[in-house]
Amino acid sequence: SKTSESRRRVILKLSGEALRERGSTDNISPEIVDRMATEVKESVATGKVELGIVVGGGNFWRGAAASARGMDRATADYVGMLATVMNALALQGALEDKGVPCVVQSAIEMKNVAETFIRRKADRHLSDGRVVIFAAGTGSPFFSTDTTAALRASEMGANVVLKATMVDGVYDSDPKKNPDAKRYDRVTYKECLSRQLKVMDATAFSLCMDNHIPIVIFDLAPEGNVVRALLGEDVGTVVDA
Ligand code: UDP
Repeated sequence: SKTSESRRRVILKLSGEALRERGSTDNISPEIVDRMATEVKESVATGKVELGIVVGGGNFWRGAAASARGMDRATADYVGMLATVMNALALQGALEDKGVPCVVQSAIEMKNVAETFIRRKADRHLSDGRVVIFAAGTGSPFFSTDTTAALRASEMGANVVLKATMVDGVYDSDPKKNPDAKRYDRVTYKECLSRQLKVMDATAFSLCMDNHIPIVIFDLAPEGNVVRALLGEDVGTVVDA
């Protein structure tokens, strides 16, 4: 069940927004999904990574936002989890088109479109070189897909969580507000906590910290960055002990 010595096992967190084209009304951009799949293919083809992908759903729906507008939170969160399944299927389709062996495992049973999440099966898929897309978050409301990434990384024994974002790392203050904001190449969990640097939500962050899983925050926009991140190159900020 453990990673073969030459391969890193990684969990890539892709937000839903990452699959949407800025300014477009389409929730999913087939072109962007295709580009992600190309980068994933290139990384997996090196034989150096075992890859699990946790997809978000924010391009369709966010439970907390709907709840703030009066909807029952748990119901809104289930809607959000189902949204992630749409993203997962889109990504799976693009990967399969390119000949990348790939399975979707859903934390909410949806037998006609996805396998149900079973840890030992997921572990086997990863060991056998298949990409596993983890859909439907944790399967529980009140959590996020960042937390899902931390959880799956913990239970699958991943070496790292790679969080693809719209910024190129962690800064000591908001780079949009402060032009002098300094970007970290590396920062400790402790410093993130004491300086209140937001890397992931608190639940996700503490799971990674408790289980000694480094987090890499990187920008997914530059071409080839996902490949570089998956292969362990310096692409963003590393958060670890
Ligand atoms: N969600 C949930 N439990 C989980 C993961 C996700 O209830 O374990 C719901 C929650 O409503 C969330 C939505 O699914 O807002 C979409 O996930 P997220 O906001 O993490 O997506 P991202 O921001 O990464 O696109």
